[in-house]
Amino acid sequence: MEEPNNFRLSRLSRREAIQAGAGALLGSAAILAGAGGLAELSAQGPAPVQPTPPPATDPNYPMPPVWNRELRQLAPNVYAYVQGGGPGISAAGVSNPGMIAGSDYLLAIDATQGPIPAAAFIAASKQATGRDFGRLVNTHHHGDHVNGNQFFTHAEILSHPYCRDECVKAAATTPKVWDKIPGVAEGTEPRKLVPPSVTFKDDLTYFIGGTEVQFKFAGPAHTWGDMMAYLPQYKILFAGDIGFFWVAPYANNSFITKWIETCDKIAGWDVDVIVPGHGPIGGKKELAEMANYFRVLGVEARKRYDAKMTPGAAAAEIRLGRFDNWIGPERLIMDVVRWYEEWDSTLTPDYNAMAVREATIEYNQVKAGQKKMGETIPLSRMEALADPC
Ligand SMILES: [Zn+2]
Repeated sequence: MEEPNNFRLSRLSRREAIQAGAGALLGSAAILAGAGGLAELSAQGPAPVQPTPPPATDPNYPMPPVWNRELRQLAPNVYAYVQGGGPGISAAGVSNPGMIAGSDYLLAIDATQGPIPAAAFIAASKQATGRDFGRLVNTHHHGDHVNGNQFFTHAEILSHPYCRDECVKAAATTPKVWDKIPGVAEGTEPRKLVPPSVTFKDDLTYFIGGTEVQFKFAGPAHTWGDMMAYLPQYKILFAGDIGFFWVAPYANNSFITKWIETCDKIAGWDVDVIVPGHGPIGGKKELAEMANYFRVLGVEARKRYDAKMTPGAAAAEIRLGRFDNWIGPERLIMDVVRWYEEWDSTLTPDYNAMAVREATIEYNQVKAGQKKMGETIPLSRMEALADPC
């Protein structure tokens, strides 16, 4: 979301975090965060967000593939609009929507994150089918899945109630014009966050164009409102952000233990193809690997939690072996913070912006002390991740 959640004192919005950080944290941030972090803290407004740091390239482990942007047909009337990505391509935050063609209208699974990808997805879908979107189901409230809602002008929009609530909150502070973001928005388009108008809590099934589409509640996992779409005829699962393949999973609003349980549950389903929210199309093997990311991280983080290390210092020490090559390595910090909150029993559905910020500063301090400046994480990057992308 553009402005995440509602916050208690320790849970601030992105803007509040920046304002608070400008006073309390400016000293250490100025030394350690580099120009991007400093500018982000200044009163002049946000600096351009630095790109995702390149992942480590450990030759002992496989590198993520490069995959292309395409509307890919998976079965009769079933498509995934896969966003391109790969090492060195700054697209870790670009989400993959899905499309099911009925005889009268198209059903979208997610709306992408802005005018450019939404227009491309809509145009490709119309070209392939000759029809327009009549329904749109948001898998969860993160901006890269709901910010494009406004462009599905003829579609009824549905989601879990939690997703709708978060959208309603965010809509109140959504800017009136899109910021210029390469590949996402030109910066002149009128902007409006359109919340879902229909909610459902558990399962909901569409029968359209001869296709059975079972929406299933999967949360709390990635968020407290996750929906997935299962197509039993074709053994296809649109997993939303339950799936991150070759991309480090984003856990800022997550209940990681439950998320792993959801992955384990899917392992028992009759599924051959999984369209993840982020990364190339895969299957159960890739989903199990993502769960393993959290398991390996959980073991490493727990040792340091028990040793009373802070999350930032712990994250700076942790190596994940084959997962260190995954795209978006800076997410390890937020994911450690989230594990700690679970163990401290302080977990809520909200994103703890201050905790992630403090952990990032400490992480950078450790890296700077080790003269590993190339591994420091620009604070602007972490601020940008407050808007899940
Ligand atoms: Zn998400």
